[in-house]
Amino acid sequence: MTRRLRIAHLYPDHMNIYGDRGNIIALQQRCLWRGIACDVLPVGPGTTVDWSAIDIAFFGGGQDSGQALIAEDFLERQGPALRAAIDDGLVMLAICGGYQLLGQYFLTHTGQRLPGIGALDVHTVGGKERLIGNVVIETEPTLCGAPLRLVGFENHSGRTYLGAGVRPLGRVLVGHGNNGEDRTEGAVYRNTIGCYLHGSLLPKNPQLADHLIAVALQRRYADVSALVPLDDTLELAAQRVMAERMLLRN
Ligand code: GLN
Repeated sequence: MTRRLRIAHLYPDHMNIYGDRGNIIALQQRCLWRGIACDVLPVGPGTTVDWSAIDIAFFGGGQDSGQALIAEDFLERQGPALRAAIDDGLVMLAICGGYQLLGQYFLTHTGQRLPGIGALDVHTVGGKERLIGNVVIETEPTLCGAPLRLVGFENHSGRTYLGAGVRPLGRVLVGHGNNGEDRTEGAVYRNTIGCYLHGSLLPKNPQLADHLIAVALQRRYADVSALVPLDDTLELAAQRVMAERMLLRN
């Protein structure tokens, strides 16, 4: 029986910087290589979504101006149902601007208060200096069974602070992370991950891509236990070289 995953791509025209769409391509391609069918539903302003039919949601980053254009639509049209789906264990990845809007609010550096949907217990405050550069983090061992070293690129004015309802995605080894102060990066709640890692994140970190695919498949198909392994020799070598280079420079 062909397995099928459905991905919702939130606001692809407004929220897609530093190649965040590469995350969708990586998910699709890694499914395809395994014979898993994969549909992508673009969710723009005004789109109605049946979240129970969605297996993975993706929300990329954006400029403050892009976030301001969609924040209200996101809150009003998707907010309640998406929050419920996330509470129920929907697999979701949100990067930077998308991560901020999953939280309580984003107060921009010009003083504009953008409401978030409150699915993640985090809030974000913009600062004058942007936090920019390559990042290396080590994930919490509980996420994938063992700590993973992830590489990415960050560029944000927002400083994100975590509340008690989330745990960090990882510990910053190189870079600024959530706020440049507490060495945390990202937030995890149930099967939803928010983080600042552009890159694109998933092509650079195939273990994380497979973690999302595996959890989504297991939620949809009770009989799926493990993913067919792929040959990631090149991807993992690139990830290791990048992490080592950054750690040496640090
Ligand atoms: N506009 C937000 C900030 O600067 C998010 C940036 C991003 O998505 N890269 O903090």
